[in-house]
Amino acid sequence: MLGKRALVVLAHQERTSFNYAMKEAAVQALKKNGWEVTVSDLYAMKFNPLVSRDDITGKFRDPENFKYGSESSAAWKEGRLSKDIEEEQKKLEAADLVIFQFPMFWFGLPAILKGWFDRVLTQGFAYSMSSLFDNGPFKDKKAVLSFTTGGLQSMYTPIGINGDINVLLWPVQRGILNYCGFQVLEPQINYSIAHSPPEKRSLILEAWQARLDKIWEEQPICFAPNKNFELSFAGGFVLKKEVLEENANNKYGLTVGQHEGKAFPPDNQVKSGSSKHCLNLY
Ligand code: FAD
Repeated sequence: MLGKRALVVLAHQERTSFNYAMKEAAVQALKKNGWEVTVSDLYAMKFNPLVSRDDITGKFRDPENFKYGSESSAAWKEGRLSKDIEEEQKKLEAADLVIFQFPMFWFGLPAILKGWFDRVLTQGFAYSMSSLFDNGPFKDKKAVLSFTTGGLQSMYTPIGINGDINVLLWPVQRGILNYCGFQVLEPQINYSIAHSPPEKRSLILEAWQARLDKIWEEQPICFAPNKNFELSFAGGFVLKKEVLEENANNKYGLTVGQHEGKAFPPDNQVKSGSSKHCLNLY
C-alpha cells in the first residue's frame, strides 16, 4: 500500500482499554502493509468538542445574528478557522482511509467524537449543496467505524431489546460519513467486549489486523445513489418514480433510511453490497 495514508481517530480516555488496543493493532497492521499512519487521539489531545464563535478568527460576517454554519464556512474559505480544526482537516484531507475507533455511548458516539465531526466537517470543506453523498468531497476516501459495545450482539438484532444495529448505524454512516462522500466499509463491531474471555479478545485483535491487511480492496456498504433521487427543491429530494416502480415487487425497501414503508434489506448497514441499487454506485 505504498503511498496510501490512513488516519485513525480514537475516542477513548484510557490507554489500558480495549479500544486503545484496537487502535494500536490498527497502526501496527497498517504500517506493516506500507501505509503511512496518523493518529488523532482525541482525549490525549484534549480535543475541544464544542462548536462556538472561538472556532473562527477575524471578523464575523454578522456578529449580531451569528450563524455557525455560514460563519464557519466563510472562515474555511478564507483560512480563518481555529488552528485545531485546520490541523484535523489537513489530516483528513491527506487520508485515503479513516478509521474511527470508539466505545458505543448511548446507542451512538462518545461526545468528544461527535464534537470532532461537528467542528471538523465544515460546510464547504466536507459537503455543500452541490457536493453531497456519492458526489461528496470525500468520495475517493474510505471510512470504517470500529467500535465496542457493552451489550450482547443478540440485543442489537431486529428482535433484541436494544433494537437492530442497522438502525443505530444509519445516522452516522449515512448522516455523517456518506453525507460527505465517504465510501463506508463494513463496521468492525466488537460486542460485549468486557465480557469476552481474554483469549477471545486476543483473537479479535488478530482478526482485525488480518482484515486491515486487505481493507483497501473491500467494497463499501450500499446506499442509494444520488441518481435515484429527484435532486431539486421542486422534486423534494425523494426517490424517482421509476426507482419506486422498479422496486415495487421487492419485499424489502432500498435501504434502512429509504425503506419505503417495507422491511429493511437485511444487514444493509453492516454488510457490503446487499442491494442491486449499489452495484454501479462508485
Ligand atoms: P475495556 O473495559 O477497557 O476493555 C475490555 C477488556 O479488554 C478489559 O478487561 C481490558 O483489560 C481488556 N483488554 C485491554 N487491552 C487488551 C488487549 N490488548 N488484549 C486483550 N484484552 C485487552 N454499551 C452499549 O452496548 N450501548 C450503549 O448505549 C452504551 N452506552 C454507554 C454510555 C456510557 C456513558 C458509557 C460509559 C458506557 C456505555 N456503554 C454502552 C458501554 C461501553 O460501550 C463499553 O463499556 C465499552 O464499549 C467497552 O470498551 P472499552 O474499550 O472501554 O473496554
